[in-house]
Amino acid sequence: MVTYLPRSAWNARPPNGGPGNLTVSRVQGAVIHWPGTGSTSVIHSKAAVASALRGWQNFHMDDRGWSDIAYQIAVDQAGRAWTLRGLRTQSGANGNNDLNERYGAILLVLVTGEQPTAAMKATTRGVIADFRRFFPRGTAIRPHSAVRPDGTDCPGPAARAAIARGDFTPTSSEDDMTPAQMQELKNFIEARSQAYALWVHRQLRTDLSAVVKAYALDIKNYERQTDAADAQRAAAAVWATAPDNFPTNTEPKPAPDPGPEPDPSAEPYLLLPEPEELPTVDTTPDASLADGSAPAADGSAPAASADPEPAGQPESGSDPEPNPSPQQ
Ligand SMILES: [Zn+2]
Repeated sequence: MVTYLPRSAWNARPPNGGPGNLTVSRVQGAVIHWPGTGSTSVIHSKAAVASALRGWQNFHMDDRGWSDIAYQIAVDQAGRAWTLRGLRTQSGANGNNDLNERYGAILLVLVTGEQPTAAMKATTRGVIADFRRFFPRGTAIRPHSAVRPDGTDCPGPAARAAIARGDFTPTSSEDDMTPAQMQELKNFIEARSQAYALWVHRQLRTDLSAVVKAYALDIKNYERQTDAADAQRAAAAVWATAPDNFPTNTEPKPAPDPGPEPDPSAEPYLLLPEPEELPTVDTTPDASLADGSAPAADGSAPAASADPEPAGQPESGSDPEPNPSPQQ
């Protein structure tokens, strides 16, 4: 889980209006940016990052006339995640309004010549996992250079290579679920397991009944045949002891009637009990477990947090890079 530093951690100015929240059904993924200052002077300490973010916010609001700093979240080389506009709010960073509606915008605080640290990569994976919780269709992770129609070097060769290697792609453990989603999955698995157990029980009962029936029939046949054979053997033994001059005008007694053939369609005398009905599982997610920050079930953002969109949003078609080098 990623811990996000609040806007107050970098002493952010309040946004001046803004484009509002992204629409869940439109979002395809997250775009990775860097500041693109052209400077090789690193921005590593917490104070240095806060100062740089303030400088870029001033530049975007005062020089570009935008509502706020352009990006949603910043991640620095120490692995800190900074709340800028926030993951749900539309960015102004991707190059035009369409791209801003289709992609989020994550800023890596990375300067020219620098490789992203393991901490930066891990936090970025966590941020992207959170982004996917808000925007389940937004699974793409793309360098700014791959989406901006009129070209940019952003986010630089090192981050571009890291994206291509999958260094920012959440692992299965990082792409974890909310407690409500986890409960829903547990209920689903439990309900499926119970249904399967019941099915197996019924299936076995059917198969076993057929076996028992056939076995019972075999026993009856065996008993009938051995009874008849025993009687014949006994009669033969009696006749064998008879004297040679024993009158033979009398036919030997016929073997006893073996009785009627058993009816194969008759119910076997061993019946299995009916399987018990298993309890059904309520698969409705427990509302009390729902994460307050999770997206609404219908994919819409809460109305209360939606910023009104001011007329003439100036961010469309503009690119925030390069940013001025931060004043330390
Ligand atoms: Zn960019």
